[in-house]
Amino acid sequence: MTSLAQETQPAQPRRVHSEENVAKQSAAEPDRYSRQVLIPGIGAVGQRKLAAARVAVVGCGATGSALAGLLARAGIGTLRVIDRDYVEPSNLQRQSLFDEKDAADSLPKAIAAARKIAAFNSKIVVEPKVDDLIPGNIEALLEGIDLILDGTDNFETRYLINDYAVNLSLPWIYSGAVGSYALTLNVIPAQTACLACIFPDSPRGMVETCETSGILNSAVNLVASIAATEALKLLVDGAAATHLRRTLLSFDLWTNEHAEISTAKPRPGCRACGERDFVHLAGEGRPHITLCGRNSVQIHERQRPIDFAEMDLRLQPHGVVRYNDFVLKFWRDPYEMTLFPDGRAIIKGTTDTAVARSLYARYVGS
Ligand SMILES: [Zn+2]
Repeated sequence: MTSLAQETQPAQPRRVHSEENVAKQSAAEPDRYSRQVLIPGIGAVGQRKLAAARVAVVGCGATGSALAGLLARAGIGTLRVIDRDYVEPSNLQRQSLFDEKDAADSLPKAIAAARKIAAFNSKIVVEPKVDDLIPGNIEALLEGIDLILDGTDNFETRYLINDYAVNLSLPWIYSGAVGSYALTLNVIPAQTACLACIFPDSPRGMVETCETSGILNSAVNLVASIAATEALKLLVDGAAATHLRRTLLSFDLWTNEHAEISTAKPRPGCRACGERDFVHLAGEGRPHITLCGRNSVQIHERQRPIDFAEMDLRLQPHGVVRYNDFVLKFWRDPYEMTLFPDGRAIIKGTTDTAVARSLYARYVGS
């Protein structure tokens, strides 16, 4: 069974799990991967390597859903799905692991993804983590991982992943999609350019979000298909894989314009891979309150364990409250507050951080 219980446990033991997975997958289901094993670059040996692999998908929105779905079906032995958010109706157009019931229940995306994967591949281990990847928890959340895949929607988290991966010489794959445009890059330690070589600062254009520019579900699936395939190559043959792409690939599905820029060499003097100055890992200047989407503010509180039953009673006189094991939602016109058990909150209906902070202080605590 996919292990939902692991979301609250420390991420271990890992190698034991992986070896058990390899034996379990090959003995019990000789047919499941039979079509994939026929691919010359994979074969039976490659399939066993996939079963032993531990991959993290950071962010499980549209790209993360597609990545996790493809890799779970391909038989990656352990998938850790990290996402801070919950499923909403506007996600269903493109976020392929979720359904209407997940949105109606406001299920955290990591939990909904793990449940959906368990329904089509119960032989792999999925470790859902309902959390926001930040400098303070990145080591714990990515501990023991062989390869990191980017399913995020923001450069702050991508630079953090880049610092972490470059520092530990771990491979990671950047994937971005907005509008009809898709962009992906393999970052292979000590070989290719890293994200900071290519984009020393957040590119302005890509800061456009799906909320403001829209998103084609096919752009998401294209970028996820390319990144998932590169992941298979890396997991089967490592950084020496012959056909591993060493370019920044961009593709606009609407205009059919596509381009590749060579990333075969790191940029001399790069802050991250050259000077090893990991400012994002050090968490310098990270705000505690951030804008999140078109009309929301996130409060990164995490030292305030919340008893949802008690909070329900406290908030009832002030508005509509609903909660499950994972999130509590509170509506007070024109605002909607989503609270997580560690005290983190997303407040919809404002882009004013002072208003959000004041609502939080009034109803949750200051
Ligand atoms: Zn670099």
